[in-house]
Amino acid sequence: MADRNYLIPMERFDNSEYIEDRVSAAPQEASGSLRTTLTYLYLSSGPINLPRPRLKKSEPFLDDAERILVRWLQTRTNGSERKNYGAPALSAARCQRYRCEHCGHADIRVLHLDHIEGRKNAGGGFACLCANCHMLKSRKHDWSGHAKT
Ligand SMILES: [Zn+2]
Repeated sequence: MADRNYLIPMERFDNSEYIEDRVSAAPQEASGSLRTTLTYLYLSSGPINLPRPRLKKSEPFLDDAERILVRWLQTRTNGSERKNYGAPALSAARCQRYRCEHCGHADIRVLHLDHIEGRKNAGGGFACLCANCHMLKSRKHDWSGHAKT
C-alpha cells in the first residue's frame, strides 16, 4: 500500500494557479527558483532541465515527496546520469504523472525509469515503472529470452 505522504496529487499537474500559490507563499529570494522547480516537476511544457543552484534554493519549500522526486530526476537531466537519461526520461516520468505506467503504483520512492528499445513516442525511449513491474519485466527478459519491449 502506498504511503500518501509519498504520492504526488494529480491536481498539481498542468496547474499554473497551484504553482503560483506555492511560489507566492515562499520568500521572494527563493521564488524564481521555486517556480523553476515546480514547473520542471508539474507542467507538460515545463523546463527539461534544472540547474543545481535552483534546485538547492527551492528545496526548503518542497514537500518530502517532491524533494525525493526532484533529486531523482535532476540527477538524470543535469547530474551524473545525464548521459544515460536526459530530458526524454523526465518527459516520460512527468507524462506518467509519476505513476507506474504498467500498474499505476504511485509511491514515488519506488519509481524507476526503464530504457525501452525502439520506442518512438512522447516517452522518447523510457518507461516509468515501479520497482516490482521493472523487476518482473527484467526477469521475464533474462529468463525466457523474450525480446525486450
Ligand atoms: Zn508497477
